[in-house]
Parts: sequence; C-alpha cells; structure tokens
Amino acid sequence: MSYDNGGLNMDLTLRLLGTGAAEGYPSHWCMCEHCMWARDYGGRNIRRSSAVLLDERILIDFPADIFMQLQLHSLDIFMIDHIIISHGHGDHFHTNTFRWRYGEDSSQKDAMTRLPFRIGTISPLHIYASRENIESIKATLTFGPEDRFGLVFHKLRPGESFEVYGIQVTPLLSSHKVAGDTAFNFVFRKSGTSLLYLVDSDMLLPETWSALENAEVDMVVAECTAWNMDDRLSAGHMNLAKLQLTWNEALARKVVRPCSKLVLTHLSHLSPPHDLLTGVPLDVDNVVVGFDGMVLQV
Ligand SMILES: [Zn+2]
Ligand SMILES: [Zn+2]
Ligand SMILES: [Zn+2]
Repeated sequence: MSYDNGGLNMDLTLRLLGTGAAEGYPSHWCMCEHCMWARDYGGRNIRRSSAVLLDERILIDFPADIFMQLQLHSLDIFMIDHIIISHGHGDHFHTNTFRWRYGEDSSQKDAMTRLPFRIGTISPLHIYASRENIESIKATLTFGPEDRFGLVFHKLRPGESFEVYGIQVTPLLSSHKVAGDTAFNFVFRKSGTSLLYLVDSDMLLPETWSALENAEVDMVVAECTAWNMDDRLSAGHMNLAKLQLTWNEALARKVVRPCSKLVLTHLSHLSPPHDLLTGVPLDVDNVVVGFDGMVLQV
C-alpha cells in the first residue's frame, strides 16, 4: 500500500509531542525533588505520554492525553489520517478513544436528536497495529456497525515494510515485553534519510540487529526510561548503560554513523528535570534530550 506525500518537503520532520515515561513527568503523586521542581517550573520540565508526529500527519502512538497534546501545539486532529501503534501499553495506546469516531455524516440539525459522538463527514483513519491491538480497538466499537467509525486496519508484521506519504515504514520486533501483545520498533526512511525509533525498547534482539545491519540511519530516537537505574531493576527498558552498549554495537554494525544523532525520550523522574540537565553522560558525539514540542529534521 502507498499514499503519496502530497508535495511535502524532502526532509523527514519529527515533532515530539509527549516525551514522558508511563507515569508522566512529574510522576502523578511523587514528591521527589525532580517532580517538585517540574511542578514548580513547568515548561519543558513537564513530559506527557509518549507520542510523535511525522511530517505533521502520521502519528506514532495514541495516548489518552493526545487531544490535549495536539491542542497545546495548535495542531489539528483532522490532519492526521495514519496512526502507527508501537505496542499496547496504556501510555502509548488508549483504545477507548477510537469509539468516539462513531457518528453521522449528516447535518447537525438532524443528528443532534440522536446522540451521535461525531457529526460531519470524516476521512478514513488508517491504523497500523499488532493483531492483538486491532482486536482490542474493534472490541470497543460497540455503538453501531464498524463502518460508521471510519477506521481502516492494517496488521503490522516484523520486517514487512509499507509506505505512507513517501515514508517507508519498517516494523521491527522490540524486546520490550507486553503481556499478550507484540511490541514494535521502527525504521522510517524518506528521500535518503532514515530514522530508527526505539520506543519502547530494552537491548535489541538478535533478529532486530540482523535486520538493521549497515542501515546507517541518520537519527535514533530512543527511550531512556530507567536513566541511571541498574540493569536488574530496569528490565524491559533502556537505561544509560544499556543505551551506551547499544550505541557502541550500532556503530560496530554500521547501523549508525559517528555523526548520527541520538535523541532521548520517554523519560522518567530518574532523569533530572529538563532545565537542570547539564549534559548527557553518554559517549555519543551528537546526543540531545527531547522535550514536548521539540521539532527535528532528520
Ligand atoms: Zn511506554
Ligand atoms: Zn518523582
Ligand atoms: Zn511500554
């Protein structure tokens, strides 16, 4: 399948909408000094649930606060007609929201007497997700016939690429564990540029390394949820030490080049608030810490 890029520019544009770990930053009920700082100073110290926008129209993940995230950045939900779901954890995938698409392609005057949740004609929304996550969306579509929700489902399979608006998307198996679901990482390629998206992830699986060999991506967006927590406690997520080992191996296997950029996201209160970061303790030439609203050109 393929959707043309509608004349968008040749660079791949990435907008980090939410850069927080599952519990957010500050963690809701936490009174540690990092969370207290974030509450006091706000701004970039606040991290919302994980979501990224590609070329302003393809969304990676769909957390419960997505509408507020879009509103905050003056973005329009109607611009987004393709959503890629990385995995079924609640901070990336809020199943229940899709049911509010149920409604009527009719005038407001007629429809307001019948309690629709949506009035007016909408374009189809393409959802790319694991079989399990597609099933869990379908299970919520109980208000009426499935075709009244305007959803088109595409099953993700590791290694099977597809194209959306000139961006080639390749799902890869992630080592991140989700009960009863498959987690995916992704490579996005457009006009000779490429992005590896490791959210969520632990150390890469052997088959994923094989699939990435010599990819020489320009940018890696990686989670660093566990920051300086030790490996034993951080199972299922990256910490700084695991990220360093991963970067070193990526260099050795030519998955990245020395000049490739590393962007950290999915951060918890284990990392300092954004305003207090004085550098990243990683031996990587080109590393930045993401924040909500950050726009990057790959
Ligand atoms: Zn997560
Ligand atoms: Zn805290
Ligand atoms: Zn997760």
